[in-house]
Amino acid sequence: MTTIGVPREAAGGERRVALVPSDVPRLRRIGLDVLVEAGAGAGAWHDDAAYEAAGATVTTHPLLYAGSDVIAGIGPPEDAGALRAGQLLVGLLAPRGRPALVRALAAAGVTAVSLDLLPRTLSRAQAMDALTSQASVAGYKAALVAADAYGGYLPMLMTAAGTTRPARVLVLGAGIAGLQAIATTRRLGAAVTGYDVREAACEDIASTGADVLRLGTPAATGEGGYARALTADEADRQQRALDEAVAGFDIVITTAQVPDGRPPVLVTAAALAALRPGSVVVDAAAGPHGGNVDGSRPGGTVRTDRGVTVIGAGNLAAQVPQAASAAYSRNLCALLAALIRDGVPALDPADEIHAAVVVTRDGEVVHPRVREALDQEVTS
Ligand code: NAD
Repeated sequence: MTTIGVPREAAGGERRVALVPSDVPRLRRIGLDVLVEAGAGAGAWHDDAAYEAAGATVTTHPLLYAGSDVIAGIGPPEDAGALRAGQLLVGLLAPRGRPALVRALAAAGVTAVSLDLLPRTLSRAQAMDALTSQASVAGYKAALVAADAYGGYLPMLMTAAGTTRPARVLVLGAGIAGLQAIATTRRLGAAVTGYDVREAACEDIASTGADVLRLGTPAATGEGGYARALTADEADRQQRALDEAVAGFDIVITTAQVPDGRPPVLVTAAALAALRPGSVVVDAAAGPHGGNVDGSRPGGTVRTDRGVTVIGAGNLAAQVPQAASAAYSRNLCALLAALIRDGVPALDPADEIHAAVVVTRDGEVVHPRVREALDQEVTS
């Protein structure tokens, strides 16, 4: 029988867990024994007893690593050295940004599967799409973080003490996270405008009922439904147009990313200087490679001289651990159901999904785009 182990997530501030108790029976049904590290679900309010009651065995970290054929987490493993040849590792590993980890996993003979490499437009893969589920949670939380930091109401309120106008919210980047931020701020009653460089995303914004900001810059749709990076000239034109447009808003939420690239700076120092005191900017794209807002720090809040609050979002999905874990757990179960045949992992390179998500196998880095990223690192 194949055993799957769910470790406690290692990253600081991480409160999600890869598998929730209610999904343990799903894995048992496809022939897996389930081990869970003690305390793994605590951050998402799932105690060890709930896992036991669902049919899992709660154990220690070393016993989990020693006794599992499959290790399923969210972030990269705490100790890649503890994995052994033939073990299957599943997670959101972001392998193109972690060359040392990828090399270590290949050298150890681990089969690494990364959910962020899933072909997202494939309808069969939608139930497994953890990038979408987590971005959706992050967009929702970005809206709440912005609303919380804002000193006024979001809705228009008519009371005996007067009438308030709705807060004006601008969401830059209307992919999965941006659309959820738009929907959430609209539910809170704000007057919401969205902006994106992809025409399809502009249609999505309009379908929520929000206004679409048009800057007259060319559409920039790239491969796989993602945006392409703008040319220097396009980025320059976009930036100047945005500098002017941003000033009229009370709240700006940014979620713009391009695959494998630095997030574009969309809110410049000049735009921040033009915002009214009390305005709030949430940079949900802030990360180790930069963000969409000049001077934002991941996980940190900056107050400008003019009184504008700039919040560099950290791991927003981890701040809604119950919803994020439940969604991730479903994605994981769907992926495992596609990878496991008759109770054992059966990776088929001819299967579009299998081929897309396997990063290392039999001591080699087998994923072409990950190998490319590794080669670039060596030559740069
Ligand atoms: P993402 O996180 O890579 O980017 C977020 C948004 O930022 C995107 O909409 C992008 O167009 C926008 N952006 C990038 N550069 C910008 C710039 N300079 N100015 C303004 N906006 C900019 O994207 P995502 O949310 O992960 O989604 C990417 C795509 O994948 C979308 O097209 C989405 O619809 C698609 N997708 C499709 C499926 C499916 O077909 N089942 C599932 C999931 C996602």
